[in-house]
Parts: sequence; structure tokens; C-alpha cells
Amino acid sequence: MARPTVAGNWKMNTSLAEAKSLARDLRASIGDINGIDRVLCPPFPYLMLVRETVAGSSIGIGAQNMNYQEKGAFTGEVSPSMVAELCDYVILGHSERRALYGETDESVNLKVEAALKAGLKPILCVGETLAQREAGAAESIVGKQITKALDGVENASSLVVAYEPVWAIGTGVPATPELAAEIMGGVIQRNLIALYGEPAALEVPLLYGGSVNPDSVQGFMEQGCIHGALVGGASLKPEDFAHIVRTTAGVKGVS
Ligand code: PEP
Repeated sequence: MARPTVAGNWKMNTSLAEAKSLARDLRASIGDINGIDRVLCPPFPYLMLVRETVAGSSIGIGAQNMNYQEKGAFTGEVSPSMVAELCDYVILGHSERRALYGETDESVNLKVEAALKAGLKPILCVGETLAQREAGAAESIVGKQITKALDGVENASSLVVAYEPVWAIGTGVPATPELAAEIMGGVIQRNLIALYGEPAALEVPLLYGGSVNPDSVQGFMEQGCIHGALVGGASLKPEDFAHIVRTTAGVKGVS
């Protein structure tokens, strides 16, 4: 079975002091739970601090983005090897980056390849907009995002895929567990199986993301094809994030 995984995307939030306090609280509450990966994804400037704060625990660290090029005249950018010195994971293709910073399936593909080469675990985000869903195109959009992002990627062993319907992100209105499972156990798993075969495809953790909170997490985790969550807003509240982690571990039978 894919390993249960809960990742917190802090986005462009927290001060240095808040980042330290959040990491310290989470280290105390969820620093040593077996059988479930817990990942904190703070802003770039706080990666080192957060890494040092959780050092000695089994909490992983992730970046929220990276460039795919190794080095050079790319002012303001951060390379895969720079990220890999501090992180285990990197979030790639988040819908905010696709919508606000022009990321495409092609650039996401380059980033996934570069992340794997650097020894990082990419958390590949896919998901349709409301207009795409209303037009009946959710499946085809997500299928295209997956196949393009993984074009040329031969090994699935370090991949994590997050299904984040854009209309559920930051809105306080999550998808229903059934709707998420329809896409995750459907088009996402089908494409992974086509690319990597079984059992490799079934080992890829599939995370649901979009307004997950302590009230909604249980229903998502009860779906067999959902192995964890990518959490935005609730990851900034240590009690909420710890609750989401514990519920996930409990439902998946690893605690
Ligand atoms: C996200 O941005 O990855 C996310 C899931 O955000 P939220 O939980 O706030 O909807």
C-alpha cells in the first residue's frame, strides 16, 4: 500500500519567529509517529530554520517550488540541488503557480525530472478549475496534467501526486470524498498504472488537497484510493495540522 503522507503547504505565510514556533509545536506533537510521512513546506527563507527545528524527529521538509535548471544567471531562482541540500520533497505544479506564474505542463515536466535527478520527492499537483469541471472536462484535464508532467519519467518510486481541485483550494469548501475518489481512483490511478504498471503505480501516495480541515479529513481518508492530504490553511494551525495527521494515521491503521 502507498505510504500515508500529510504535507503542509505554508505558502507565503509566517514570519521567521512564527515559522520557528509552528515547527517547534509540530515537532512536539507529531515529531515521532510511525507509519506516516509528515512534511512541512515553509517559504524558502525559513527552510533551514525549520529543518534545524525538527532535526532529530522524523518530520520531512519540502520546498514549494524550484527552478529546473542547475545554475546560472536566473536571478531570484532556486535550483534543484539547492533545494535538495535542505529538503526531502518539493511541491511542483501547484495551481497557484500555474495560474499566477505561468507554469505549464511542459515546465512542470522539466521540474519533475530535475527534482528526481536531484534526489527529491516531487509532490506533483494536478486539478481542474471550476469552469473545466462545469464543462465536463475534469477527467481529461487531470489526465493530461498527469501524462504530460510524467512524460519521460521512468520510475515512480519517489513520486507523490496531489489532486487539488482548484475550486476547493482556500475556499473553505472541500470537494466531497466521493468526488475526489472518483478522480483519484479513476483517471489518476489509471494513468499511473498505464505508465508504471502494478504494483509500482499503487505504491504512489495520492493526496487530496483543497480546504482539508480537522472536520473533513476523516471522510477523505476513509476512501481507499486516498492516502493522505496536502493541507494549506489548516497547516498553519499546529493543533489542526496535528489532528489531520493523527486522523490520517488512525484511519489508515498505522498508529
Ligand atoms: C493548497 O494550496 O495546497 C491547499 C490545499 O490549500 P487549502 O488547504 O488552504 O485549501
